[in-house]
Amino acid sequence: MKINIVPADWRFSESDLERIIGCANEGLGFVPVEFNVLAPRKVHGASGMGRVDANKYFEFLQDRRYRKGTVAIVSRTLYDGSRTKEFVQGLSWADERYAVAGPNHLYGVQRHLGLAQTLVHEILHWGKIMHHRKRVYAGDKLCVMMPNGGPGYTSLGPCSRCQSRFVQYLNAA
Ligand SMILES: [Zn+2]
Ligand SMILES: [Zn+2]
Repeated sequence: MKINIVPADWRFSESDLERIIGCANEGLGFVPVEFNVLAPRKVHGASGMGRVDANKYFEFLQDRRYRKGTVAIVSRTLYDGSRTKEFVQGLSWADERYAVAGPNHLYGVQRHLGLAQTLVHEILHWGKIMHHRKRVYAGDKLCVMMPNGGPGYTSLGPCSRCQSRFVQYLNAA
């Protein structure tokens, strides 16, 4: 599976991006994936202090006609303007196979891990894999499909149930 990454309003460094993608590759290590980084885009400006509606990045991906399987990775703080109006780490649109992943108020290595987890989480939503309601582990940390994950307690990858569902989805696609 080929996954396009568009750095949109990206104010972190290129090496941050490389590390994040490296971690996401690790989380998706159970399937053949290939990340392809596209040219950075300015959508709402990287340096603004205000938070941005995550749905604006969906509109951006649609308007620019990115192909299915594209994730906007952003350094602006996101909120879900269409539903909860609250902070979100990312959002996913399964039909279009689009997603957005944003920073989690984290720094350094924690930021790399947190953003990579969000990438993996949103990509798994493309396979219509929903959140666990009970605690499910992937190794010694929680499955990446638990809601409200964080690098201290969530794994980069999914549990065996989510793995096999995503493999089914890829085989059917
Ligand atoms: Zn989710
Ligand atoms: Zn799981």
